[in-house]
Amino acid sequence: MKRPKTAATPEDRNPLIADWAGAFTLPPFGAIKPEHFRPAFDRALAAHRAEIDAIAAGPSEPNFDNTIVALEKSGRELDRVANVFFVLTGADTSDEIEAIEREISPLLARHNNALYLNRALYARIAELYGKRDMLGLDPEQARVLERYHTRFMRAGAGVEQQAQDRLAAINERLASLGTQFGQNVLADEKSFALVLEENDLAGLPDFVRAAARAAAEERGQPGKYVITLARSSVETFLQFSSRRELREKAFQGWIRRGENGGATDNRALIAEMVALRDERAKLLGFANFADYRLDDQMAKTPAAARKLLDEVWGRARLKAAAERDALQAMIAEEGGNFALAPWDWRYYTEKLRKARYDLDEAEIKPYFQLDKMIEAAFETARRLFGLTFKPVAAPLYHPDARAWDVTDAQGQHVALFIGDYFARGSKHSGAWMTSLRDQEKLMGDIRPVILNVCNFSKPVAGEPALLSFDDARTLFHEFGHALHGMLSNVTYPLLAGTGVPSDFVELPSQLYEHWLEVPEILRKYARHAATDKPIPQTLLDRLLATRTFNQGFATVEFISCALVDLDLHSTPDTAAIDVTEFERKDLERIAMPAEIVMRHRLPHFQHLFSGGGYAAGYYSYMWSEVLDADAFAAFEESGNAFDPATAKRLRDFVYSAGNLREPADAYKSFRGRLPTVDALLKKRGLVDAAIKER
Ligand SMILES: [Zn+2]
Repeated sequence: MKRPKTAATPEDRNPLIADWAGAFTLPPFGAIKPEHFRPAFDRALAAHRAEIDAIAAGPSEPNFDNTIVALEKSGRELDRVANVFFVLTGADTSDEIEAIEREISPLLARHNNALYLNRALYARIAELYGKRDMLGLDPEQARVLERYHTRFMRAGAGVEQQAQDRLAAINERLASLGTQFGQNVLADEKSFALVLEENDLAGLPDFVRAAARAAAEERGQPGKYVITLARSSVETFLQFSSRRELREKAFQGWIRRGENGGATDNRALIAEMVALRDERAKLLGFANFADYRLDDQMAKTPAAARKLLDEVWGRARLKAAAERDALQAMIAEEGGNFALAPWDWRYYTEKLRKARYDLDEAEIKPYFQLDKMIEAAFETARRLFGLTFKPVAAPLYHPDARAWDVTDAQGQHVALFIGDYFARGSKHSGAWMTSLRDQEKLMGDIRPVILNVCNFSKPVAGEPALLSFDDARTLFHEFGHALHGMLSNVTYPLLAGTGVPSDFVELPSQLYEHWLEVPEILRKYARHAATDKPIPQTLLDRLLATRTFNQGFATVEFISCALVDLDLHSTPDTAAIDVTEFERKDLERIAMPAEIVMRHRLPHFQHLFSGGGYAAGYYSYMWSEVLDADAFAAFEESGNAFDPATAKRLRDFVYSAGNLREPADAYKSFRGRLPTVDALLKKRGLVDAAIKER
């Protein structure tokens, strides 16, 4: 492993350590080199460690100021360095950055253990928590104390030493297993290639052929065509290729990632991780990992999450069965003499979509220009929350990244928003929101710097960037997360912006997607790239009519994952789990339709095992969808998609409220009641009448 030369830059000339004096106090990206990170991390980790030790060993009686406020003010240098570093590891990485990441990740895990398993520190927090009603705290202070207490409790700060040692060891082992899991999936993706000749391309439209040619070139096979296991590659191939045996080949490669035997097989890792998580949960006083995980979520219990999933599951299976019948009928019509298989589903669905709605991707795309969709997202934020976005020149980490100064109705600075929209080799796949600085008022009126990172195709120079409708939806989704960060209005950093439970954090993002489909937004911003004509009403109607098309399949694909996730993380016997067998039996138990495969099978289910942010938490997306569907219905009921009174409550209790309240209380304050599942069923076309109609 290559070690950066720590002596190369004297500390006083390390730009990560120096004061950032430029516009918006941005990091001086132009001056930051990979070799600056290790010494900056070392210094920041040591400084934070010293701060923690000083708070824990404080000679005076613990009070809110010398314990909670002191913790909130600590670790600032570490935040600063880590924020810059993790923006780069995601959006503009390199071999050097990746090497530092492998080095620094376990150090950060150990640092976290040292903080959250610190007994002396926990004793002070617990003492304060015990007498919280006598401390004269305002509601936000009470909330931040409660959150600290919960965090330390859940980490194991209160358990005895022997158990703590075991917890620390488990955490480190889980961290390295998680890293290995992700690298194995990546390795299986890299080693698979379906190489095609000219005569294998039947059914593939030009844009799929072009991508396959580019993939072949990248893999040193110029002139050929390669289908990879990247979702964008294999999914479009399955959608369009009329060669059934090739579809099967691609599909088998795709669903066997992490299950191919040898060094990259993930099944033993999963068994070990599930057992370790179960052991950790028991050390912390819970019956199993799912109970532990959901205890600090909005759902609170696995039973509550299951209740929702079960309610949708039966209807989704009915709708999927109707969809299957329609696809099978299409096969028969074509004279096909075979039963629909999983690798046929996308292909016949695409044909049915064309037949039923006369909808062609090539016809839609020119109406969805990236710059117009950015404007549409901004306009929505202006009408809902009074925000204005002005482009500004700011020194960023890549020339494709752009910045906007965000101001409120009074012209006051709210945030700096950075949009980094195009795919490139140095960027991880997917789309996400992140920050370089979070909002707070503890150390002055600190305004946030928020990023959206996406992977849209970059056009050739001079051409406008065009999005698919799904891309546009992604843009709105991530912008919803961004608003959650930008509108944050709290005092304490712990409570700021997106620092909420994961089954609540997708509400601001999934809710924002609804405004993309508001006709007045589309009519104004969906304009043809060449003619500037607005999207014709008939095309718009056809586009919006497909909203519930194939939703039985999509819902089954998703919920099966959420159910298997919960079952795996609450199974009573975690000794030597046979992962393949577990998955098979569990799918049998829930009566999974034979023609549909889980969206993520266990051996490559990165949400659960690569890091584990969504372990026993995959249900979160559906939980948040109940909220977002019900929340948007509040605007519909008012008769105005931008109703000012509803928008104000949404801002006060959701977008600007961070983690000030329990999610259920926050939602009730916004809506006047808890959500019902009705709006979600309607949105997905799963109400009884709609299912029968097909
Ligand atoms: Zn999201």
